[in-house]
Amino acid sequence: MNAPTPAVNPAVNPAMNPARNGELRPGGQPLADEVIVTRGLTRSFPMGDTVIRALQGLDVTICRGEYVAIMGPSGSGKSTLMNIIGCLDRPDSGQYWLNGTPVAELGDGALAALRNREIGFVFQTFNLLARADALHNVELPLIYAGISRRERSERARLALERVGLSDRLRHRPSELSGGQRQRVAVARALVTRPSLLLADEPTGNLDSATAADILALFAELHAAGNTIVLVTHDAGVAEHAGRAIRLRDGRIESDTRKT
Ligand code: ADP
Ligand code: MG
Repeated sequence: MNAPTPAVNPAVNPAMNPARNGELRPGGQPLADEVIVTRGLTRSFPMGDTVIRALQGLDVTICRGEYVAIMGPSGSGKSTLMNIIGCLDRPDSGQYWLNGTPVAELGDGALAALRNREIGFVFQTFNLLARADALHNVELPLIYAGISRRERSERARLALERVGLSDRLRHRPSELSGGQRQRVAVARALVTRPSLLLADEPTGNLDSATAADILALFAELHAAGNTIVLVTHDAGVAEHAGRAIRLRDGRIESDTRKT
């Protein structure tokens, strides 16, 4: 006699598989307060005759309201992980749920829409449009989201005010300091009111005083309820964040919470 077919095949949905996960979840779905759930993520890159295994099976769970520092040596897979979490790249295998949505099942259009709605991304190199002023740079994600011109402008103004740049709305990136450029990028990341703020070495191109300013801004945003995942080499950030995930060779070396 055949065994009854499980409602969800554990091989397809490892969240059901206690051996892999350490816990059973009702219905196999991520819990309501879990913003990020990954199981068995892998990502490789062909390099000449060899293959670089950038991620070798990552299980990460991050809940609403957490501030998580991702750390680890250069080449350990931090950016690869952030790009997958941020829906800029897809894993070769493994599962990723973003706010309960199984990302692997989405086509490219739906993935882009999900990214625009749920994620604000801040990069080391700011990635601002050189020819657009601060206000227009911050409005861009709202244009993609189909928000009216009037509301766009209002929300972009408020986001720039939030990062302390009310007096720089009409400045272009070349007319702003590095710290101000990164503030514009943070405003652009926040303007869609994303459920998740991702930052990949956001202070890597800034001097230490300016970096401290930007990190203070992230601390404020966390205190205001934002969920933040930030790649950094700064042990002070990990201390402040409350949780540090350390990667080495594409695996989690440690995952520690401040008690
Ligand atoms: P980190 O951000 O921790 O410095 P990355 O995630 O950028 O590390 O890279 C992890 C590994 O994958 C590195 O060995 C890197 O060279 C390699 N890698 C990352 N992206 C690519 C790519 N697009 N093509 C080839 N190799 C890549
Ligand atoms: Mg990197």
